[in-house]
Amino acid sequence: MIRNGLVDSIGNTPLIRLKRASEETGCDILGKAEFLNPGQSVKDRAALGIIQDAVARGELKPGGVIVEGTAGNTGIGLALVAAPLGFRTVIVIPETQSQEKKDMLRLAGATLVEVPAVAYANPNNYVKVSGRLAEALAKTEPNGAIWANQFDNVANRQAHIDTTGPEIWEQTQGKVDGFICAVGTGGTLAGIGMALKARNKDIKIGLADPMGAALYSYYTTGELKAEGSSITEGIGQGRITANLVDAPVDAAFQIPDEEALPVVFDLLEHEGLCLGGSSGVNVAGAIRLAKELGPGHTIVTILCDYGTRYQSKLFNPEFLRSKNLPVPEWLERKAEVPN
Ligand code: PMP
Repeated sequence: MIRNGLVDSIGNTPLIRLKRASEETGCDILGKAEFLNPGQSVKDRAALGIIQDAVARGELKPGGVIVEGTAGNTGIGLALVAAPLGFRTVIVIPETQSQEKKDMLRLAGATLVEVPAVAYANPNNYVKVSGRLAEALAKTEPNGAIWANQFDNVANRQAHIDTTGPEIWEQTQGKVDGFICAVGTGGTLAGIGMALKARNKDIKIGLADPMGAALYSYYTTGELKAEGSSITEGIGQGRITANLVDAPVDAAFQIPDEEALPVVFDLLEHEGLCLGGSSGVNVAGAIRLAKELGPGHTIVTILCDYGTRYQSKLFNPEFLRSKNLPVPEWLERKAEVPN
């Protein structure tokens, strides 16, 4: 099958059986391989959906500028999709995000604005800076500018309602008992959750929340409350975004880094799957949901992005030690060369 350019190459990713997680639980644990998208992450889908929606509504015009605040992956997706469609991108990113993502953004042609990482309540938070920048550029750019606004723009979750959810349903031939993933904007969880529930309301939808996020508390007690922290990037939400409104969540699990990172290392060492930290939270969450549902069930989760994006952090022994996180033995293994 020939795909017509980059835009046509987003989505239709494989569903991969995760051997060790399946053996451990007696369930079929399947990972949707979103790291195989052209921008190497699940966010290519949201980026394309947001751009197509803005074009359809007449807001984004040829030569226009797309402005966004992003932990990186949405920006990479936007910049790559913008190139063939004739738009430019200006990306606001917290300076704490990995160097690899910043380098890729520049490579993809984005103009990068790095800002200090401060809480959402602070007016200098990256999301709020991007909104103000979009407003200013809309007045000065000859072809106009839009704010992608992935957190509160429901074109984001619509992309998953239209593509990722139906793909999972078709790939499993409707034999899916549970779906679980973490939340950044909530587009993936809400969109896939809604698409699957519309086909079978008995499918259990689970949230896998990292430490430092407030959603585990929200879905278990009704109160938004955060504790602890996580080195995972792109996930960990403190509020109910527009994309999360009406998300069908049946179960929530809190996944500390100490539980998620060994899963990431394991998947690389034993299954050749090189993934970022949020995929570890997701697969650890799938294992927890599987244990709750019992053996014989099929659980789907998201393999969000490719691991090389985190070489300097997640796969760097010095960084792991500085965070008091365990370093896998093989990461430091040295070859013994005979004399
Ligand atoms: N994992 C990674 C690595 C991400 O960049 C993101 C998006 N920020 C997510 C997971 C979460 O996806 P969503 O925004 O759809 O909740």
